[in-house]
Amino acid sequence: MKIAIFGAGVAGLSAAIELVDKGHSVEIYEKRKVLGGKVSVWKDSDGDSVESGLHIVFGGYSQLQHYLKRVGAENNYSWKEHSLIYAESDGKQSFFKKANLPSPWAEVVGGLQADFLTMWDKLSLIKGLFPALAGNEEYFRSQDHMTYSEWHHLRGASEHSLQKLWRAIALAMNFIEPNVISARPMITIFKYFGTDYAATKFGFFRKNPGDSMIEPMRQYIQSKGGRIFVDAKLGRFELNSDETIKHAVLRDGHTITADAYISALPVHNIKTVLPVEWLAHDYFRNLHQFEGSPVANCQLWFDRKITDTDNLMFSQGTTFATFADVSLTCPEDFQKGMGTANGGSVMSLVLAPAHNLMDMPGEVIISMVMKDIHDRFPKSRDAKLLKSTLVKIPRSVYKAVPDVDQYRPDQISPIKNFFLAGDYTYQRYLASMEGAALSGKQVAEKLLSKLGG
Ligand SMILES: Cc1cc2nc3c(=O)[nH]c(=O)nc-3n(C[C@H](O)[C@H](O)[C@H](O)COP(=O)(O)OP(=O)(O)OC[C@H]3O[C@@H](n4cnc5c(N)ncnc54)[C@H](O)[C@@H]3O)c2cc1C
Repeated sequence: MKIAIFGAGVAGLSAAIELVDKGHSVEIYEKRKVLGGKVSVWKDSDGDSVESGLHIVFGGYSQLQHYLKRVGAENNYSWKEHSLIYAESDGKQSFFKKANLPSPWAEVVGGLQADFLTMWDKLSLIKGLFPALAGNEEYFRSQDHMTYSEWHHLRGASEHSLQKLWRAIALAMNFIEPNVISARPMITIFKYFGTDYAATKFGFFRKNPGDSMIEPMRQYIQSKGGRIFVDAKLGRFELNSDETIKHAVLRDGHTITADAYISALPVHNIKTVLPVEWLAHDYFRNLHQFEGSPVANCQLWFDRKITDTDNLMFSQGTTFATFADVSLTCPEDFQKGMGTANGGSVMSLVLAPAHNLMDMPGEVIISMVMKDIHDRFPKSRDAKLLKSTLVKIPRSVYKAVPDVDQYRPDQISPIKNFFLAGDYTYQRYLASMEGAALSGKQVAEKLLSKLGG
């Protein structure tokens, strides 16, 4: 069977891996020059890696780890110490370290030892979060009508723990505040966090997500006969009289004919190319319920080390929510003699919430970030900033706000030869690399079982 896939993010590449392995003829069309979508990385004029966003692999990402192994990239990432590290003013750090016990005791004992929570925070958390730990998928779904803040307060958990602990998690997961994000994804995460010891450990790519994951995926797909076209933007579909796709037309006028078509575009992009005839179906109309979360990623190169923390860090009350010194976490990308690397820190910072930053000039944002860096990392006050980069993504992952989960589409559409993949489509994870990988696996399996391949 000939299958055309549009979009070369993790979802499109994962679907391609499954399909080339089954011997199908796969063509991927990507609008940009670089593969990877939100995980893409490119080089600046100094030869340094600029990433769309700092990316972490979680212990619980079994599908993504499976693909990394399948493409020979299982050694391209490494695990860090198992703790949440919160950067505070003047170089102080607070920790939530899991105890060396089976879950949930690892989390309960770890939580009781966390020095940045009061005893009342701890007791109210243990009591308040119990339904999340004991809950199942049905319970999580039933809580999707309220925000996480509402759920937290209804459970009697303290405002202080919301601001100190969970706000950072909401911003890291979906780039939105706890009073905007639905309770559902947050309590689903507590379940993972509280019941599976290994699920929440953080892994970093040894180089960067582009070289360590996307490039091996590309090589694997091409080695199995898959063809990848860049600078190839999907423009529209032409239909047969029964509404199935006759062919896809790229923006440059090039026509593609296949037995099946998979969109692995972000939801806001696929909405713009849907034929109007298809909008008679709820399935396609519902895609208009999704809105993208704005986010920005800032990278700062310093002439010396400003931290020795080799792990993900969280911070609250700052322009950045999650960040890492990638010269430490991803050492193979920042060795002396490569790009501008000189042994200094290279901070990669996810700026969230970012709705106010989208129209702000880059220099203003960098100066705000630097002020916060000086506050959190005293060593930076004497360091020289060598250069900075800023990537703004006005519509990144879909906002997981209350009541939107019900609109996540299945990978099978009502159109016989058209399928959807992407982190927003229905699978058990929120928008993430794992969610995108799962959607790629599911779309391939469902397509083959429907069309018989
Ligand atoms: C700043 C940031 C940090 C993140 N951190 C993490 C993290 O630590 N861990 C984690 O698991 N997830 C993280 N994520 C989320 C993760 O990156 C995404 O959920 C995932 O990569 C989405 O993959 P996808 O394939 O569904 O979509 P995308 O990556 O968006 O891929 C879609 C592709 O379609 C292409 N395209 C669009 N329109 C067209 C067209 N008309 N024709 C052809 N091609 C088109 C795009 O260029 C893109 O390559 C982060 C995201 C951001 C923005």
